[in-house]
Amino acid sequence: MAVLEIRNRSEHDPIADLPIVDAYIRWALLAAEEVVGKQGLAAILRQINLARLIDNYPPELLQVTGNFKYADYANLNCGLLEFFGRAGKSMTMRVGRLSARHGIEQQSELFGIAVLIASKILPLPTQIKKGLDSMQNGYRRLMPDVQLSLEDRGDKIAYITQTCSLCAGKEANGHICWTFGGVIQGLLNWQTGKELEIEEVQCRAQGAPTCIWEISKKPKE
Ligand SMILES: [Zn+2]
Repeated sequence: MAVLEIRNRSEHDPIADLPIVDAYIRWALLAAEEVVGKQGLAAILRQINLARLIDNYPPELLQVTGNFKYADYANLNCGLLEFFGRAGKSMTMRVGRLSARHGIEQQSELFGIAVLIASKILPLPTQIKKGLDSMQNGYRRLMPDVQLSLEDRGDKIAYITQTCSLCAGKEANGHICWTFGGVIQGLLNWQTGKELEIEEVQCRAQGAPTCIWEISKKPKE
């Protein structure tokens, strides 16, 4: 596999200006710190011009204050990918999973997670569909500008977004939004108790109109 190269887009990407929920930045920072350590994260934050966040994470606030934009989340994601190098995909997925864990309790009401867990008697594909639906509805309530959809693809379900925060303003020679794949995986694992295969199959960073992650309807063996 070729080395991943990520650049800022030469033309402005309006998605990069969308405001993001403060707590999402906080959970991503806490998760990243768990994986790379305090020193490692401080180095990454200096590299991506977010040194102001060193020892100064945003509050646990599940709302948009305007203090953070999609561009900040994308910069953190890309800083981590560069830090991890060839291990970028698996390591950022790990950060995503940990990030989801930080958010589950705070978002449980928003996502209706109690209801989802009560639906465990339903067939797994139905549980997955319900879980992804409530994730997307939760995001819509917090950030009205998001454009999200789901598509049934036989043995997989596609999570599709035109407004991906992980690659906002970036271009790359490969897919770069694995962190969010990890978030989806973490939330579905919590909800269903199953390990599900997730692949990012299309990325805006490569010029596609949407970022797409395909989620397997069958658990890993
Ligand atoms: Zn993306």
